[in-house]
Amino acid sequence: RGNVDLPDEIAAAQAHGAEGVGLLRTEFLLTGHSTLPSENEQAAYFERVAEAFPGHPVVVRTYDLGGDKFPAPFRVPPEANPALGWRAIRVCLDEPAMFRTQIRAVLRAAARAPIQLMIPLVTRLDEVERTRALVAEEAAGLRQVGVEAAASLPVGVMVETPAAAVMADRLAEISDFLSVGTNDLTQYTLVVDRGNARLADRFTPHDPSVLRLLKLVAEAARAVGKPASVCGEMASEPLSAFLLLGLGYATLSVAPPALPLIKWLIR
Ligand code: PEP
Ligand code: MG
Repeated sequence: RGNVDLPDEIAAAQAHGAEGVGLLRTEFLLTGHSTLPSENEQAAYFERVAEAFPGHPVVVRTYDLGGDKFPAPFRVPPEANPALGWRAIRVCLDEPAMFRTQIRAVLRAAARAPIQLMIPLVTRLDEVERTRALVAEEAAGLRQVGVEAAASLPVGVMVETPAAAVMADRLAEISDFLSVGTNDLTQYTLVVDRGNARLADRFTPHDPSVLRLLKLVAEAARAVGKPASVCGEMASEPLSAFLLLGLGYATLSVAPPALPLIKWLIR
């Protein structure tokens, strides 16, 4: 599958043979805008992506704001430690109006396509339970007012923190799939800022600590029969992709330019 950050990448992922989108980043809907995107605008975008990959899943990641990405509509006071601060699913659950709008847009787009929802930077089980409750509430609300929408959505967990990796068995039970974000998992496991050039040689997903977590997550998903995939940059490197297959990951989602080589390697 392909990772799609910006609309321009849809065509590239298509051209390189992506079997769906394993990570549809949604932050661009906010960056550079002075207002939050409407439900209609988001639903139209998700439908457009789904139409580009007929019959294949599109995994929409809920807003992963904060840390390295905070757009204009949010005026947040600076934090001493943004990477450990108010980010991702924490922001979404604290801003229910914004989160519910996004969930409704995904439910509407999922009426006619296999669209799934994925939650970034999970550290606790209740983040999944609360998200699922919001999805159920919004699905019921849309049905009540007669809007065409999916009755429910597969909800997956991005495993990007040591907490999520260690709790992967429980998270796999209460979600529909796990997808490992190795960029953040490496950063938080090794305590190495992923953007710090001076520490670049320490930022390695091949560290034994990260590999142990990757193995744990794959095994936890397999034990309860849930799919596990990898959507971090690691999956785009040929040798790492090979390693991930051996660890039991059946699905990899990679940047469009990496698709041909990774597909060839897997075959
Ligand atoms: C990751 O952390 O591996 C990931 C895929 O998410 P992002 O790079 O958008 O943080
Ligand atoms: Mg991440």
